[in-house]
Amino acid sequence: MRITRRLEFDSGHRIPDHQSQCRHLHGHRYAIEITLQGDIIRQPGSPLNGMVMDFSDVKALAKQNLVDAWDHAFLVWRGDVDLKSFLESQPGHKTVVLDVVPTAENLAAVAFDLLDRVYRDTYGNHLCLERVRLYETPNCWADAVKEEIKK
Ligand SMILES: [Zn+2]
Repeated sequence: MRITRRLEFDSGHRIPDHQSQCRHLHGHRYAIEITLQGDIIRQPGSPLNGMVMDFSDVKALAKQNLVDAWDHAFLVWRGDVDLKSFLESQPGHKTVVLDVVPTAENLAAVAFDLLDRVYRDTYGNHLCLERVRLYETPNCWADAVKEEIKK
């Protein structure tokens, strides 16, 4: 069985080598959809009976491990040297430094990697992260799918 939880967050980014608008500093209302796969828990009397995972737990773990760090942060590529030093010169500025250019594809892959270890078999029901879908806009998204991800 697969279940999906969607969360939204706001972040700034730029794609320095982009030919068009995305080379400028700007932000997006991102959305992330986290799809988990696992067995349905069959434990009469348990609050988890009939579930793969409680949706509120999916949300809480995503916030703790990813969304709270990225929300209202600027996502900057380590190689975007001048911008990175500018952001780091701002006292207390919320900056997330990434080893990759912050495209939707790369953010989906980074998010998958961060969350993969979080959802491993929490309840003994073979729970695992199946897919992370990262929306840069409502019309543009990237999917990081288990077994297609390069570690
Ligand atoms: Zn953009």
